Amino acid sequence: MLSLQSPVNHIAGVGPSRERDLARLGIFTVQDLITYYPFRYDDRTVQSGQTLGHDTRVTVQAIVQAPPAVRHKGRRSTMTVQVKTHDGMSMTAVWFNRLFLRDKLRPGSSITITGKYDARRRSLVVSQYEFGSHDTSVHSNRLVPIYEVRGELTPKVLRAILTKALKQVESQIPEILPHSLLAKYKLIPKRDALAQIHLPKDAESLRQARRRLVFEEFFLFQLKLQAFRHLHKHDRPGVAHSFTKEQWAGFLKMMPFELTPGQKRAVRDILLDMRAPQPMNRLLQGDVGSGKTIIAFCAMFAAYLSGYQSAMMVPTEILAEQHYDSASELLGRLGVRIGLLTGSSKESVRKEMLDKLGKGELDIVIGTHALLEDGVEFSNLSLVVTDEQHRFGVEQRSIFRQKGHHPDVLFMSATPIPRTLAMTLFGDLDVSVLDQMPAGRKPIRTHWVTSDKENQVIRFLRKELAKGRQAYIVAPLIEESEKMEGVENAVDLYNRLKDSLAGFQIGLMHGRLSSRDKEDVMRKFKANEIQALVATTVIEVGVNVPNATVMVIYNADRFGLAQLHQLRGRVGRGEHSSICILIADPVSETGRERMQAMVATQNGFVLAEKDLELRGPGEFFGIRQSGMPEFKLGDLVTDANIMKAGREEAQQLMASGDFWILPEYRELVEYLKREKLLKAPIQD
Ligand code: ADP
Ligand code: MG
Repeated sequence: MLSLQSPVNHIAGVGPSRERDLARLGIFTVQDLITYYPFRYDDRTVQSGQTLGHDTRVTVQAIVQAPPAVRHKGRRSTMTVQVKTHDGMSMTAVWFNRLFLRDKLRPGSSITITGKYDARRRSLVVSQYEFGSHDTSVHSNRLVPIYEVRGELTPKVLRAILTKALKQVESQIPEILPHSLLAKYKLIPKRDALAQIHLPKDAESLRQARRRLVFEEFFLFQLKLQAFRHLHKHDRPGVAHSFTKEQWAGFLKMMPFELTPGQKRAVRDILLDMRAPQPMNRLLQGDVGSGKTIIAFCAMFAAYLSGYQSAMMVPTEILAEQHYDSASELLGRLGVRIGLLTGSSKESVRKEMLDKLGKGELDIVIGTHALLEDGVEFSNLSLVVTDEQHRFGVEQRSIFRQKGHHPDVLFMSATPIPRTLAMTLFGDLDVSVLDQMPAGRKPIRTHWVTSDKENQVIRFLRKELAKGRQAYIVAPLIEESEKMEGVENAVDLYNRLKDSLAGFQIGLMHGRLSSRDKEDVMRKFKANEIQALVATTVIEVGVNVPNATVMVIYNADRFGLAQLHQLRGRVGRGEHSSICILIADPVSETGRERMQAMVATQNGFVLAEKDLELRGPGEFFGIRQSGMPEFKLGDLVTDANIMKAGREEAQQLMASGDFWILPEYRELVEYLKREKLLKAPIQD
């Protein structure tokens, strides 16, 4: 007998080759198979032959009237067949390159065909066909599920295997949601939902099936987050930092500027968390340029005053070096011992650094992913800060957590994450938001021009450079690529601009330079030895050169809005007014809308919402970044309200505390145990 855990080769009709193709889709067991959802549905409901719309996709049931007529043209063939629909309408069915059907299309045979209908010619170009008049077929006369397939597998074969297996195990599918939730949200039982998602009776049944399954998906996800949060908060004692008011006041005096009210609030939140014995788990969100770095330094200084070590992890070496320099300037003077550790640190330097860290002779270490490696041991780590944190996956976060006993963790993100996403990504975090810019910032003017205006842009660049300002010029690619013709690349652009901006120093920066070269270029740009820096998006995050006032972005439509906003945030950091010029020739309406959105708003949150709306969450970060949960069925944008409900229910459940003794929660409790999210031992 087939069970949910049975391997797929136990299903009749699945041999080694199909097993292999299924494995490529991540389907190994019956359970995997029945939760492999269609990505769309074709409406192949049989229509009356009398009412077919011109130039629409239709499905009819018909009887073949005469043998097919075939015409050849080179290796192509066109086959036309006279048919009559079940309600007596004559038409011509047309197949392209399907000669093998010739013998099967005998007069009198019955067939269901789907395709584009031309009412004037009374002809139907067939894209799907099914022999026989299967009123109850899984392949026709209904909403037909379409699956993504690999190898030899066709959607049709998958459909057949899946529906067969589903029938056999249907009665074994457990109901994981308690009745109270099903009733409250009017959700259909899991069994029905699975049956209907694969073979929907009609559009409404499909909607209900999807709603039920998405709810479960989101609810379990939120439950995990909440359960994790509970474990984290209550079970693990962290460090209760402590220091005197005087010590802190002395530090405040050293600050190069007065903190904004938002920064003050964030620092207060953080210090409160750090003083408490539970580990801090906080996200600091603030738009590009809102001044997050100084807040990290405050937190690290508080750890130092309390006698502990802290670590700051950032996504790029350039950023690590920049933070190292500013930290040394501010905190170094106060006696804090700071180290820098990146992938390109020399072995001897690295050794010495690790040695000092282990002995407690360094108070702060700033670095890249290199900090996550084995062998990086601290003597008493109590605080971890990650900058631009969405670039770190969940696993990396937890490695870091293990390096200290239960260190306080501060995540900083400049990517203004829309509320719906933040809830999902960081549901286990407390959040502080910097909602205003430091005083005196001038807004960045943004212009969108088409590529035929490039010369004007370059003339403008010359003028700005002549005034003593500096510029970033960004291209999507490093070098010319055959695959992406017409897309600007940094190397060519650099060579061109050396001519057209003659008289100024031009620099080139991209991900393939050695980190020493990168460092060198960046140092020169900071020192204004280079006036115009041609770069790829390596300069996207964190780089701070206040004298740079022009940002030119080629093929701007190739970037995500969040990414463009990040790039734009590289300018507008000093006393001079800044400008961002987007060069783009978008072909789609969406592309134009995105450029217009960039021009219209400087608010990262508004842009992020727009980006999410226009492109969907998968593409939100430009490339799929790690740390972003992926859902089988649920969509963070269109199902946002389901996520909200799932979260509320998960919160309530975890807060109630004694649900696991109630019988209706049995399956749910089993699930939490499997996921190791409940502190066993729980009495059965
Ligand atoms: P981000 O939030 O993007 O990391 P930074 O921390 O790099 O921003 O800060 C951007 C710039 O603003 C830096 O030059 C920083 O010194 C400056 N800055 C930060 N806070 C203030 C403030 N309260 N007043 C004036 N300038 C500030
Ligand atoms: Mg920053």
